Amino acid sequence: MTTPRASLRPDSDRSIVDLPKLVRTLPDHEQALFHRLFLVSESVGELRAPPSMHGWIGRLFGSLAAVERQTIIRTTNLVTMEGALFNALRASRPFESQHAEEVEALVNSGTGDPFCSPLQSTPEDVFGRVRGRHSVTASNVAKYDAFHGVVVFDEHNPLRFDEESISDVIDVGLQWGRRVLDVDSEARYFFLLWNCLWKAGASILHGHAQVVATRDLHYPKVEGLRRQALAYRERHASDYFADLVAVHRALGLVSDVGTTNVVCTLTPVKEKEVLLLAPELTPDLKRAVAQVLDRFVHSLGVTSFNLVICMPPLAPVPEDWSGFPHIIRIVDRGELTNQTADVGAMELYATRVVASDL
Ligand SMILES: [Zn+2]
Repeated sequence: MTTPRASLRPDSDRSIVDLPKLVRTLPDHEQALFHRLFLVSESVGELRAPPSMHGWIGRLFGSLAAVERQTIIRTTNLVTMEGALFNALRASRPFESQHAEEVEALVNSGTGDPFCSPLQSTPEDVFGRVRGRHSVTASNVAKYDAFHGVVVFDEHNPLRFDEESISDVIDVGLQWGRRVLDVDSEARYFFLLWNCLWKAGASILHGHAQVVATRDLHYPKVEGLRRQALAYRERHASDYFADLVAVHRALGLVSDVGTTNVVCTLTPVKEKEVLLLAPELTPDLKRAVAQVLDRFVHSLGVTSFNLVICMPPLAPVPEDWSGFPHIIRIVDRGELTNQTADVGAMELYATRVVASDL
């Protein structure tokens, strides 16, 4: 089944291939800001296909010409050194999505798992459980870190959510982080993650997010971003996150939900990544998360995704977190039936290869 092309961008008729041209049309000050933050380059990969392949290429990619000359767009964030390679040919392919009923049946097949009865089948943390309106916490059996909990959704099917249940997961997770501080005042660095279904790394099908709290320093990728933003501020006397949003906004890649900026990033970590930035975990931010997930699942046919919250520590720490926003990142992890991993050596060691932009 082919899902109609739906986009999260306010201006959806443009493609990543238009980026270099689009940047050249920006007013001078916006172009200068763009080039301070990003390097973008365009290149063409060429090949010659034997006649015996022409039919196959035509069926798969639409035309032989499109395959013989492929435009590649490469983006690099010069502040964070995140980058992506977009292939226009791959981006132009219609994405396939499974029948909703098929996914529904697959997901419901797992009912009766331990998370369907968390009070009987999961351990609790030393400080007990946090109970929300739509979720309850458990202590993770095999921990990433000393404090590692699970926010178990009341609803088994992780793709069945609404604004209220998403908001509840965030509230319960945060409350769990505060309860941790009661037993270890040093575990101030809180991180929430949601691996939705197995392509995203979940080992249990039942809807659940995870929460971790750590000591001494935030996890390296979050701490790295804090340091990069701080260095940027010292060098340019300007706020990195505000500039990041401004550059994306100039290119039509930002929409706002109240004080929350919803950004279709130029350097996605993988398919369709969206960043949500807000000064606090406001109701607007939670609403925006629910809206993005709704578009992902119901318009774009996404069935497996990762979501994380990167935010300043929950209690004062020696290092400077001023100006660091609450950032929620959401990324599509591909079809549930596709057995190929979406991350290979290029992504681990060089840069991200992205097939579909938003
Ligand atoms: Zn279940």
